[in-house]
Amino acid sequence: MALIVQKFGGSSVANPERIKKVAERVVETKNKGNRLVVVVSALGDTTDELIDLAAQITDKPIDREMDMLLATGEQISVALLAMAIHKLGVKAISFTGPQVGIYTDTTHRKARIVKINTDRITKALGQGYVVIVAGFQGQTSDNEITTLGRGGSDLTAVALATVLRAKVCEIYTDVDGVYTADPRIAKDAKKLDIISYDEMLELASLGAQVMQARSVEMGKKYDMPILVRNSMNHSSGTLITKEVKSMEDVLVRGVALNTNEAKVTIFGVPDKPGVAARIFKRLADSHVNVDMIIQNKTKTNTTDISFTVFKSELKTSLAAVQAAVKEVGAKGMICDEKIAKVSVVGVGMRSHSGVASKMFGALAKNRINIDMISTSEIKISCVIESKHGKKAVQSLHREFGLGRN
Ligand code: ASP
Ligand code: MG
Repeated sequence: MALIVQKFGGSSVANPERIKKVAERVVETKNKGNRLVVVVSALGDTTDELIDLAAQITDKPIDREMDMLLATGEQISVALLAMAIHKLGVKAISFTGPQVGIYTDTTHRKARIVKINTDRITKALGQGYVVIVAGFQGQTSDNEITTLGRGGSDLTAVALATVLRAKVCEIYTDVDGVYTADPRIAKDAKKLDIISYDEMLELASLGAQVMQARSVEMGKKYDMPILVRNSMNHSSGTLITKEVKSMEDVLVRGVALNTNEAKVTIFGVPDKPGVAARIFKRLADSHVNVDMIIQNKTKTNTTDISFTVFKSELKTSLAAVQAAVKEVGAKGMICDEKIAKVSVVGVGMRSHSGVASKMFGALAKNRINIDMISTSEIKISCVIESKHGKKAVQSLHREFGLGRN
């Protein structure tokens, strides 16, 4: 009997009707003779609504209490799904993250899973239950409730699939799979049948809002195949898997747009050893994730350092940077929230040249100015003005021949 982990996102369980549909789907898989662990997110926009509720109380909620609050969302959905499956005559039991032994570190709101004790799940599976686990949550070794960062139910699912040695981790969402670009922006975007972990990772972290990046990282680390599918139909989905040679035939797999970042520039930074280290230590100590970093030495004895951070972490970043500016004796800092990052991604770039010039050329043709550039083996990203974001995606999607026609 194969073990399958299925995860259903918030939109798939947005209301009682959809929960019943999910239950039918779960039962269908179970009746094919599979053992089944189901991970669910909070109903619809519950998490956003809870965050909004907290914001109406205070603009500086304590992280521990935010986790107490946010973890309730998933507890609602697991119980309701268990009831819906019961109603169909199949044994199901719901658990919270802590109940099934998902242990994390102590970083509230962005906790990392450190250990999973599978005893309780294995026992329930052995008794013939469909096991339903609340996504996005765990507990510290001191029994404090933690959450795994936005979109963290994906991580719960991939982590459980890994420790339970599942055959596949199926991620059910409200789209048919991963596309060459956001179909709302590039109308002729194509669904991909297969994509490598690395490409997906670039696309996920670049804001192709299909899966949480950390969950794809975990899939890659443990080589857990992840199948992204639509919960509302039976289309075949997109398989995220390890790289095979034929994947290199395609130059660019997809184009992503990220509008979740802001740019911070520190200017007049003394040009001497140790300065960058001190600045970024301050940011690291505040648990800020820094993305692109650019520093360029000019003819004077100072430099400017620019980097991007998540807008949601901008406040924290600015506080850290302000302290750093004083500490290293820089002249000052500015920030810009009106930026977008557009990126082309594909493992084929490793073996083909000319992608960068083609990309810059397409942006130039559309009179889009490039503010920052960064590259990796399989990705080129440009920071541009946010108002040009959509146009940039459309033109790159066309330029690299990614559309249906
Ligand atoms: N409910 C959480 C969120 O909205 C976790 C998840 O959906 O994966 O971020
Ligand atoms: Mg969600």
